[in-house]
Amino acid sequence: MPHIPTIGVLALQGAFEVHARRLASLGANTLLVRRPNQLTNLDALVIPGGESTTFLKHLEREGFYDTLNTFVHTKPIFGTCAGCILLAKEVTNPPQPSFGVLDISVERNAYGRQNDSAIITADTSLPGGPLEMVFIRAPRITRLGSAIETLATRDGSPTLIRQGRLLAATFHPELTDDFRVHQLFLDIVQKATT
Ligand code: GLN
Repeated sequence: MPHIPTIGVLALQGAFEVHARRLASLGANTLLVRRPNQLTNLDALVIPGGESTTFLKHLEREGFYDTLNTFVHTKPIFGTCAGCILLAKEVTNPPQPSFGVLDISVERNAYGRQNDSAIITADTSLPGGPLEMVFIRAPRITRLGSAIETLATRDGSPTLIRQGRLLAATFHPELTDDFRVHQLFLDIVQKATT
């Protein structure tokens, strides 16, 4: 019997329910994480989209930021949009604190007011053909470390990247019917836990 991983979804704000449902339908145990002590027995974590400044505010209590900082430096993490911003080494527009575990620079709200939401279909190196990506007040990755693999792009900027056990998207993969990105994360988690 393969080990069934337990994947947490940070549930402080944003689109956490859909991530949990999707991971459950792919066979994972899931837990909505609202307090730092809930991280204890998790194999991995999703940090969903939302507003990264609001996440940072919520993380100020009960030593949540420090506990999560340790977790993201050791376990598989999938950060989408605001989650990707929180993982980045450098954040601009404006600068703000982040866990710095993912070797990228990221510019917040990079597509301006007129284009702050977009649905774009582009090629991906994931098997199964082009990927539909939903962008909402999305960041843009402006610098990529050498250990990063790019799996999809928008106008030449990376939108889906992997650095070993870390996966990050500047779009919202939970808002389309395509399960490949969550499946990839589950594969990363399975590999890390067996
Ligand atoms: N604009 C948000 C931020 O800067 C991210 C948007 C999102 O997660 N959809 O944190």
